[in-house]
Amino acid sequence: MSDLTLNNGVTIPQLGFGVFQVPPEETQRIVEDALEAGYRHIDTAAAYRNEAGVGAAIAASGIPREELFITTKLRNGEQGNAAEAFEDSRKALGIDVVDLYLIHWPVPSQGLFTDAWKSMEKLQAAGQIRAIGVSNFLADHLDTLLAATETVPAVNQIELHPSFQQAELAAKSRSHGIEVEAYSPLGQGGDLNGNAVTAVAAAHNATTAQVVLAWHLAAGTIVIPKSADSTRMRENLAAAAITLTAAELDSITALESGARVGGDPAVAAWTQL
Ligand code: NDP
Repeated sequence: MSDLTLNNGVTIPQLGFGVFQVPPEETQRIVEDALEAGYRHIDTAAAYRNEAGVGAAIAASGIPREELFITTKLRNGEQGNAAEAFEDSRKALGIDVVDLYLIHWPVPSQGLFTDAWKSMEKLQAAGQIRAIGVSNFLADHLDTLLAATETVPAVNQIELHPSFQQAELAAKSRSHGIEVEAYSPLGQGGDLNGNAVTAVAAAHNATTAQVVLAWHLAAGTIVIPKSADSTRMRENLAAAAITLTAAELDSITALESGARVGGDPAVAAWTQL
């Protein structure tokens, strides 16, 4: 599995494992299965309420800490309290240093993400976080952050899948040296049934999930598919071995339909998250 190098030199496995909607009581087992399958990059969030399960799986795995890449995210309701919120996440995960810490949503109506970022810069300077980034930041949120702070985000984790690609936002992020990380990369399963992906999958004797993930990887995007099933975990990981032709990549890119599966960051304001 290949790594990408972030703008501060930290490396990240390009294909990781997400745990949104993984119930807390099942998280340890599911993350242990993912680690056993070969994933070394886990994406969680304080809002998912399953950081402790991720931490228990890390501890039980016996895998050296430096071989793992762990991302978590600042709750929307804690943007004014980022240092304390980070400490809660770090303790729940049971690790000394978090590899990547993200502002989960901009929540522009709060006007707090720049303050949160400055706290995160201090935590990074103190060695508690290796890289800091954002999630769900639209162009204007990036512009505000870049104008007001010192550190360019290492990543922008955004909803990105064949039917909702946010191509302009991805290009803008990359133009600033910000890696694009695709969340809901399979469209939460909704992008796996169309004729175009089915045809490409048949040509490669692969599954539709594998060709969608191969399409992301070919674009240089970081991907974090979620699966509770160990067979599908392995299937998704094996996408890294699939190389699509330019015509096949184009046929998947043509699936853009502008349909989100998640929230709109311009207005999303779930401060309970
Ligand atoms: P995904 O696009 O990863 O889709 C997950 C769904 O697809 C599940 O229903 C899963 O079912 C199914 N699936 C997975 N693999 C396969 C396969 N090979 N064949 C068929 N079905 C499959 O959606 P997510 O929303 O979970 O996104 C992934 C990660 O992105 C999250 O877990 C989270 O870490 C992150 N995320 C971040 C957000 C943010 O705001 N920053 C928002 C949303 C997600 P099953 O489990 O039964 O296999």
